[in-house]
Amino acid sequence: MKLKKRNCFILVIIIIVLVIGGLSLFKRKEIVKIEEDAPTLKAFKESSYYQEKYQEAYKEITFRDNPKFLEITNQLLDKNYQAQEINQIFTYLSDRNIENLLTIDYVSLENYYEIKNLDVLKIKEYEEYQKEHNVSLADAVTRVNIHLNEEFYTNIEEVDNPDSLTVLVNKFHSLPSDYEPTDLVNVGQYSYQMREEAALELEKLMAYGSTQNVYLIPFSTYRSYDYQEGLYDKYLTIDPLDVVDTYSARAGHSEHQTGLAVDLRSSVLNDNVTDEDYEWLLNNSYLYGFIVRYPKGKSDITGYMEEPWHLRYIGVEHATKVHELDITYDEYYDLYLEKH
Ligand SMILES: [Zn+2]
Repeated sequence: MKLKKRNCFILVIIIIVLVIGGLSLFKRKEIVKIEEDAPTLKAFKESSYYQEKYQEAYKEITFRDNPKFLEITNQLLDKNYQAQEINQIFTYLSDRNIENLLTIDYVSLENYYEIKNLDVLKIKEYEEYQKEHNVSLADAVTRVNIHLNEEFYTNIEEVDNPDSLTVLVNKFHSLPSDYEPTDLVNVGQYSYQMREEAALELEKLMAYGSTQNVYLIPFSTYRSYDYQEGLYDKYLTIDPLDVVDTYSARAGHSEHQTGLAVDLRSSVLNDNVTDEDYEWLLNNSYLYGFIVRYPKGKSDITGYMEEPWHLRYIGVEHATKVHELDITYDEYYDLYLEKH
């Protein structure tokens, strides 16, 4: 009995020794493995950027095939970003955002990695806007990006793509005063002119509507800069400026100057579109590449009172997405068409 117990005891000791030995061997192997698998550390050691104090961080940073990788990594480490943050930065941020990040003090990006229209230079503005308006961070980012934290008609940028079917024209983006589309044609039998693609698709939209008891005709399409200026000035003789701004665009800021916008009216009533027409347009105009540009309930974003009659042509692909996402074109442009 005694002998058996002692043997058992010895056996247990042997097992413990073996396990500990095996573990430490395994551990040593692991360490060696990390050293071997640390291409970032290796790359630093082979370069003139190596800094002893960052040795441990280098091991945890995923190597990137980017000519500025070592330089940027050191700069981020200098700004106190942790290795894991640096990995996220390289994974999620655009080159432009990374470049801008190097020009500012450390900011926590934890809540921003998934926000693809992030502009790191605006992080303070995003946070202020979110506090003031009680919206999600993603919405705050988009709203600040489209300048809703500023007064309308301030910091106006002239667009550099006036001929693009997706050009964004609003109270912060203007067309050159001499811009005129070169491919204006009549919309079907009407003397109203739009850019060719938009005119053809509008004809199809109106024809489709008439098969569904929605009878619409154009009553305003392309308007030149000068015409818009006259129109706006005429309204100013009727209403004060802040009121006029809710229903008429200043010259250079009207989508009608693009040749891609149309105001529709009901041909049956010979009057404004009805609520039914508006509903139909909301649910069908995208099929032919149009969106209702100033929908109900979005005045705070578009800067215009609802205009159920005003359609804008942007092509089927984008119109379908705007329809599905149920957002304004101002937001859509920032989320999907702007380069961040
Ligand atoms: Zn209009």
